[in-house]
Parts: sequence; C-alpha cells; structure tokens
Amino acid sequence: MNVADNIKSLIPYPPGKPIEELERELGISGSVKLASNENPLGPSPLAVEAIKKTCGQINLYPDGGGFYLKERLSGLLNVSPKNIILGNGSNEIIEILVRTFLGVGDQAVMADQAFIVYSLITQAAGGEVIAVPLKDYTHDLEAMGQAVTAKTHLLFIANPNNPTGTAVGVSALKKLLEGFPKDVLVVLDEAYCEYVGRDDYPDSVKLLDGHKNIVILRTFSKIYGLAGVRVGYGIASEEVIDYMNRVRQPFNVNSLAQAAALAALSDEGHVRKSIESNNLGKKYLYASFEEMGLSYVRTEGNFILVEVGNGADVYNQLLKEGVIVRPMAGYKFPSHIRVTIGKKGENERFIASLKKVLNKL
Ligand SMILES: *Cc1c(COP(=O)(O)O)cnc(C)c1O
Repeated sequence: MNVADNIKSLIPYPPGKPIEELERELGISGSVKLASNENPLGPSPLAVEAIKKTCGQINLYPDGGGFYLKERLSGLLNVSPKNIILGNGSNEIIEILVRTFLGVGDQAVMADQAFIVYSLITQAAGGEVIAVPLKDYTHDLEAMGQAVTAKTHLLFIANPNNPTGTAVGVSALKKLLEGFPKDVLVVLDEAYCEYVGRDDYPDSVKLLDGHKNIVILRTFSKIYGLAGVRVGYGIASEEVIDYMNRVRQPFNVNSLAQAAALAALSDEGHVRKSIESNNLGKKYLYASFEEMGLSYVRTEGNFILVEVGNGADVYNQLLKEGVIVRPMAGYKFPSHIRVTIGKKGENERFIASLKKVLNKL
C-alpha cells in the first residue's frame, strides 16, 4: 500500500460525541449534547415537511444543478445563480476549493486556532498550511496578509471564528483586501453569520462586486438546523464558480437536502426564534460564568469558549454527568472547553453540572 507522508501524518477530525454513543457507553439516558453548534430548537418544521414530500422520489437522481435552491438564494442574495455553488455541507465546498485552486506544495494561509477542517483538507491535498497566531482570540488580518507569499493561493477566514466566536469587522477586512494579490482567493467562512450581533460585520456579498477574489461560504447546518442532511453553499465570481463546478461531483447535494434547504429559507420565524433563543442563552451563560469567576470569550456565534482549568478533565467529568461539550486541546486551548448555547433547560443543566465538576476536581 502506498500512503504519502502528508496522509500518514493526518490526525482525523474529532467530531462531537453523539448522544447515543455516550448513553450506550454509560448506560444513562436524558443526556444533552452541546458539542457541535447544532440548532437546539431543531430543524425548521417546514424543512421536515418538505423532506417528507420528497421521499417518494428518492429513486431519482437529484437535480445536479440545484436549480430551485440556487434560484431562491440568488433572489435573496441579489447575485446571479452563476455566482452560487451548492455543497454537501460547506465542508465539501472547502474541499472543492482546495482541489480546484491548491496544487501540491502550494500554500494556504489560515489562523492557527481556527476551524480545523481548513488545515486537514490542505494537508490531505499536499498543500502547505501557513498558520498565523490569533490576536486577542481574533483573526489577525494584518499578520495573515503579511504571511502571503508567491506560493499562496488561498487564505481562510472563519468569520465568526470557530472555536473562539470572535468576528472581524468590515474595516479590518477592507484593509486586508486593499492591494491584496488578485490571484489569492480570500475565503470568508460565514457559517454563523445569522447570529452575529456587531454592527460592523462585513456585508461580504456586497464586497464581492469590487473584489472578485472573495469566496463566501454559508451553511444550512447551524441556524437552519439541517446539519444532518448536509447542505451549504458558496458565493463567488462566475469564473471561480465555473472552475469549482468542474471539480464538483455531479450529484453532490441530495434531493432531500435541496428540498429541506429551500423550505428552510422560507421559515423566517424559525430563524428569528433561533436568534432570540441564542441571545437569551448567551446572557444566561455569560452571567453564570461571571458568577463562577470563569473567563470566557464573548461570542458572535452560538457557542462559547470558556476557560475551566484542565479542559480534558472537565470534559470527561461532564460526560459522566450526561453533558457533552467539546474539549479544545486539538485547537491548542487545553484549558478551555467550547459549549454550544442550548435551550434554557440544557444551559441550566450544563451550568449545574459544571459547578459540580469544578468543585470536585
Ligand atoms: C459548523 C461549521 C461549518 C459548517 O460545516 P457544514 O459542512 O456546512 O456542516 C463551516 N465552518 C465552520 C467554521 C463551522 O464551525
């Protein structure tokens, strides 16, 4: 078997622990998962209905061009359908980007404590990861810009960033884009954009007009509550999308996912309720952490990075309490855990368990 060194040295992505797995292992029930930034309110009911209606046609291949979903997105975003590519989750679009634009030995610039998938896919493709330290838990766009060389073809910005929850504002982004090499694609991963509160959050679609080298990633996995069906999309210049479509598998987004996403876009009530629930939960968790004397990073997303001492210990003890969060050693935050903002009862359960665990340790 021939396995290249860049594959041998890959460390597989550690997903959040599924509830079923924890309960099977511990013989418990009623646990809560606050580990994968899923929507605690569940999927949009309209999306569930749309999936049921589509079930009778799953003998047929899906529409490989995603006509209706792209048309709807095009109207909402005020771009042409030719500026949109659909993916099996936005993760697949990251993969398509790397396979389309990054040759062996080429460099991708990213923050050293950002979404791990960027570095995994870059390494798997034989690319070189240029990891730039965060500054105050936030992408340091100035340093990232300086890290670009003639071999750099992609620059990833998670905005907001996972796992820190911080976002970059429009002025820092514009400064980066000014005089930036036109042949380096700037990937703005906006998986959590609907949750962002700050006023200066970039209107990235608008920036696309003047900057053809921007690629925007969005997903239905987070606020739309459709992580299980895998659908996301990218927005970019027609030329960039055209090249990516040459690499994309013809039927990469299944018919149930397309139907669900289309319906979810019409469910504004579900999005609004999800934002309200997130804001309430955020306030409660901030107040609880402050009361407990724990430092945390203020978030623009639906999750919070909080410092707890020994993150791995706290994670394991919380599991025994039936609460699944995310340990952060893999992101080089060994003293932190990341907790998804849940529903009221889930947040209270998490805080009660955290208090118990921290007293015991
Ligand atoms: C959750 C998340 C995604 C979403 O990935 P999907 O493949 O669309 O489920 C993308 N980027 C970041 C930074 C995320 O945290």
